[in-house]
Amino acid sequence: MAKILIVEDEVKIARFLELELKHEGYEVEVAHDGRTGLEKALAKDIDTVLLDVMLPSLSGMEVCRRVRQESQVPIIMLTAKDDVTDKVAGLDSGADDYMTKPFAIEELLARLRVTLSRHAKRSEEAGIGEKLEFGKLLVDTASREVSYDGEEIILTKKEFDLLECLLRNKNVALSRDKLLSDVWDYDYMGDTNVVDVYVRYLRQKIDDKYGLRMIDTVRGVGYMIKQGN
Ligand code: CA
Repeated sequence: MAKILIVEDEVKIARFLELELKHEGYEVEVAHDGRTGLEKALAKDIDTVLLDVMLPSLSGMEVCRRVRQESQVPIIMLTAKDDVTDKVAGLDSGADDYMTKPFAIEELLARLRVTLSRHAKRSEEAGIGEKLEFGKLLVDTASREVSYDGEEIILTKKEFDLLECLLRNKNVALSRDKLLSDVWDYDYMGDTNVVDVYVRYLRQKIDDKYGLRMIDTVRGVGYMIKQGN
């Protein structure tokens, strides 16, 4: 059974989550501050991290960023704030999913199942590895490296996932909802501007830098990468 790390300074909430997850059959580790959480999150046997944003010693965002420098372990951020800027910041620091407190435990369990199966599938795909390309742009899905004409491009986890999704569906107009559910794993309840924000990041890092028009806006639908564009 999967092992879940809970990083939450509010002891009552941490205890509640621990009991619920154990009841579902998960193994559980708990940390009550950012530093301990970071240390435990980097242990090889953790399958998903539930990470509170407001934490003593090291914020959840910072823990997330530091974990991402070394590990692709799934991270679900838990926060009291409900603001799209915070969501984007959380996802930009490398989180896989985001939940606003208070949330129903059933919803957390559902998201956890999706995140775990998604990660298992990705690990499998990454093991096989695939090279995707668009002209001189190369994307290696095994090493998660991106380059243009041999020059390395540094992308965040979600930027990479979005680019990979677009490249795997060349010449297909992908709706914002479809991109949300494929890249962010679930319905963002109408927050499709997260997609626009990330497309903008990719355009800055790739299109603007190399004078390309790789990602087309499909009016009223979403986005598409056209072969030979
Ligand atoms: Ca807290």
